[in-house]
Amino acid sequence: MAGFLRSLYHKLSNTAEVDWDELEAGLVAADLGPRLAMQLVDELKDLGREVTADDVLEVTRRHVADRLPPDQPPPLPPSSDKPFVFLIVGVNGVGKTTTCAKLAHWLQRRGSPTYLAAADTFRAAATEQLQRWGERLNIPVVTGPAKSDPSSVCYNAHQQAIREGARYLICDTAGRLHNRHNLMEELSKIRRTLAKQDPAAPHLTLLVVDANTGANALQQAKEFHKASPLDGFILTKMDGSGKGGVAVSIFDQIGVPPRFLGTGEEPEDFALFQRGRFLEEMI
Ligand code: GDP
Repeated sequence: MAGFLRSLYHKLSNTAEVDWDELEAGLVAADLGPRLAMQLVDELKDLGREVTADDVLEVTRRHVADRLPPDQPPPLPPSSDKPFVFLIVGVNGVGKTTTCAKLAHWLQRRGSPTYLAAADTFRAAATEQLQRWGERLNIPVVTGPAKSDPSSVCYNAHQQAIREGARYLICDTAGRLHNRHNLMEELSKIRRTLAKQDPAAPHLTLLVVDANTGANALQQAKEFHKASPLDGFILTKMDGSGKGGVAVSIFDQIGVPPRFLGTGEEPEDFALFQRGRFLEEMI
């Protein structure tokens, strides 16, 4: 992760006076959003004295911490005999399919048998990709024919997961956002179908967003939240140039908390979101 404030801090430490425009631009470039960047700069200006690099660090850290949720407990399977169902949504290319596999691996490594449903039937490669992950990680993957109804794949997967006593089911979905109406229909049909076998399912709907896409990720979160209420999001590609600030913007503006972070292409490159650690690495 970039530790965007570290470079800003060094720069400020070596200059006599803060360049406010440059500072604001730096905060916006870190994906904290123009509103928060402006608030931070205003608060620093209001200190009414010469502002040091330490002031900038302290004020930014405080504001960012206030805009991130406290650590959430890991999702636990319910005490019932039905599996805990994740509905994973997001646009193509953000790392959705990889994330489904990583999440399944994460859960299975904690001793919970997990099933995957390849409900992105629109993109044949997505099903094949998930199947490959399943073989590699020893996780059953339920698939359907190409272009078949994604909700029927989820229904079958749910049925199998219940029958086999799985503790978790993760449903990968298609990521076409260009037609919000269709997407909304598709996601709500999947939700209705899952609820047929367990009224509480899906238990957690998580959006996958790419940390490198900045403000676009916020826009995607807004769109998806309208289409299918989100319980949280997973920020992927935190090993790239993304600054992670978008996690702050999404939680601050939509109230949807980050739940997991993806930090690479390997199955182990996946972790629960933890505020303290995130702040340390980000700032
Ligand atoms: P989908 O279209 O959203 O399902 O995306 P994929 O799962 O196919 O992933 C797209 C690309 O992103 C693949 O090359 C993945 O290996 C890569 N990817 C996914 N998550 C991460 C991550 O956390 N870090 C990095 N560096 N690459 C990732």
